[in-house]
Amino acid sequence: MSCADWECFCTICGGPLRNVSYFIDDDEGSPRPGLDAYDPSVFLTRPDYPELEWLDDIRALGENLETSAPSTVWLSGPASVGVDGDVRFDVGKDSDPALLDLPGAGYAQAYCLEGRDPWCAPFHVKCHEVLRRFLGLESLDREVLNEMFKSLASRDEFATCLKMDYGDITEHRTRDWFPLRHHEYLVSDPIDIEWLARFYEKFPLRRKGDEELGGVYNTRGDPFSKLPSDILSLLALSIPTMEGVFEARVASPALANVPLSQSFWRARILQDMPWLWDLPISTDEQRLLVDWSRVYRELFWGSQRNRTLGLCNRRRIWTQTCPQLGKQYASITEARNK
Ligand SMILES: [Zn+2]
Repeated sequence: MSCADWECFCTICGGPLRNVSYFIDDDEGSPRPGLDAYDPSVFLTRPDYPELEWLDDIRALGENLETSAPSTVWLSGPASVGVDGDVRFDVGKDSDPALLDLPGAGYAQAYCLEGRDPWCAPFHVKCHEVLRRFLGLESLDREVLNEMFKSLASRDEFATCLKMDYGDITEHRTRDWFPLRHHEYLVSDPIDIEWLARFYEKFPLRRKGDEELGGVYNTRGDPFSKLPSDILSLLALSIPTMEGVFEARVASPALANVPLSQSFWRARILQDMPWLWDLPISTDEQRLLVDWSRVYRELFWGSQRNRTLGLCNRRRIWTQTCPQLGKQYASITEARNK
């Protein structure tokens, strides 16, 4: 009996492992009302929607316990998924040794932790890259990766993903992928983001009069008023979230009197949005002329639900699933190094 009788999803992001452009409602003659299709206007390059091609660029990582190869773990080449939880890929002379003697070569059931089928987990190539960036490694060790996936696997024979909290995307997975309008970010490319590339090329510049004035609040009775402003600036930078910074500024007039400088905002971008690994190193000229508070706002709000689609998906994967996977990866690596 197969482990799954329906679609399987990406191990890392939980999204569909096939191009879902057919869920785009682009029948201009009689658009379908309701929420069962994506809005064509958000995928701008009709008719092929190359923005969605990343979805079927997938690989599978699995194992072959019967192999005579030195490692039981294998990584497939380009793969595709079927309609009953299966993953298909070519096996040739260049394939991993553990694939060459895998029973039913070129075909594997996904997420079968138990039973007669060998273990296999499919994922998007780009999600693998997000995870690698999250872990800050040059490359991911496939044996550790495999052990990590298995450590989070469900014993449910109908599993279509790992047993971890995938967040908002979970409600879009029923028997098949279930598209919801205004949730287009869930299927958007998390790596190559056209808006982000354009934004990086032309940061907004400061205008005269933009500077925040300091020292306008009465600090009598505020114990923080004894601290110099550079220490208060460091204090503001050490508060984990901007929400916390604003709350602290409401509670302390002395803290509110310290202007949030351009260097403060530039530092907060790196601190608060670690998923912006491609943020260019700023030049001296940019440090002086760019409006870093606006850069912060645009990137922060742009990465919120369904605003800048690919950026939202990158942030979602980075903050929702990468920490759960990363924790396992670190502990497995540590145990192996003992
Ligand atoms: Zn994915």
